[in-house]
Amino acid sequence: AEQEKQPWAGYSEKADRYSQKKLTLVADLRNAIACDQGLFLHYQPQFDCRSGKILGVEVLLRWNHPIYGPLPADEIVALAEQTGLIQPLTHWVISHAFSQYQKVLTAGFEITLSINLSTLNLWQNNLLQDIAQQLELYDIPAGQLILEVTETVLLKKPRRSLDFLRCLTALGIRIALDDFGTGFSSLAYLKKMPVSELKIDRSFIQELCYSHEDQVIVETIIAMCKGLGVEVVAEGVEDRATQLKLEALGCDRLQGYFLAKPLLGSDLLLRLASQ
Ligand code: C2E
Ligand code: CA
Ligand code: CA
Ligand code: CA
Repeated sequence: AEQEKQPWAGYSEKADRYSQKKLTLVADLRNAIACDQGLFLHYQPQFDCRSGKILGVEVLLRWNHPIYGPLPADEIVALAEQTGLIQPLTHWVISHAFSQYQKVLTAGFEITLSINLSTLNLWQNNLLQDIAQQLELYDIPAGQLILEVTETVLLKKPRRSLDFLRCLTALGIRIALDDFGTGFSSLAYLKKMPVSELKIDRSFIQELCYSHEDQVIVETIIAMCKGLGVEVVAEGVEDRATQLKLEALGCDRLQGYFLAKPLLGSDLLLRLASQ
């Protein structure tokens, strides 16, 4: 009887507040995408290990919520994935990144542009067409674009995902395997996927100078990439010692707060002009 009177058995005020916040956020995110308000992009430079020059940038999503303030990118993406907003959000990211990148090319800087994709994007019907159209619209050579995906792309619908990746590479677009080493069967994926770049996860980089294990792992990944003809990028380089270590190990590209924080498009242009 007590149960009947309490349809809210298991009700928790905290959980309720959380789902309220989530509902608000979903509505606000939908609105932010549709009205192009509050969302913006950062560009984090990637440096050539040998010359120290900027070779490319990774696009990172930012959302400054009017009430909650800046929200972490992975939370925004997870929210969009759960609510069917990942498709319009990715379209928003690509078009804004291309528009900014067009200015970079026009200014004469031939760097690469890396964009993160959600695994859900790979199962979308029109993404390939959307990307091809936008490359055309902004007059961007496909060979300058790198799409970053994680190993999870092959967990579900592996055939469909692989077909999609092959179509991208047929257009001349490059694929980077992101967060390498954090999944369960990284090597099997590396064998199957048409990958031209591999990004060593920052969990292997952050204690590189103090951990013998990390050194052996990173050294082995770099040697493997050389053998496979795959470009290798280290992310999360936070100090000079780590930079020097990665240079000594023969890493191709470096990315991290020590070298450059994620920048606004205008600051990226200034930084490129001053190098
Ligand atoms: P990620 O792809 O692994 O991106 C690298 C993350 O490391 C970024 O976090 C970047 O700001 C951060 N980072 C860069 N250098 C350093 C460093 O030296 N130290 C440390 N501790 N962190 C560093 P951010 O911007 O918070 O993005 C988090 C994740 O959100 C990204 O991880 C990516 O998975 C996802 N994400 C970001 N933007 C997008 C997007 O436009 N689309 C999709 N699908 N996912 C995105
Ligand atoms: Ca990434
Ligand atoms: Ca990563
Ligand atoms: Ca990630």
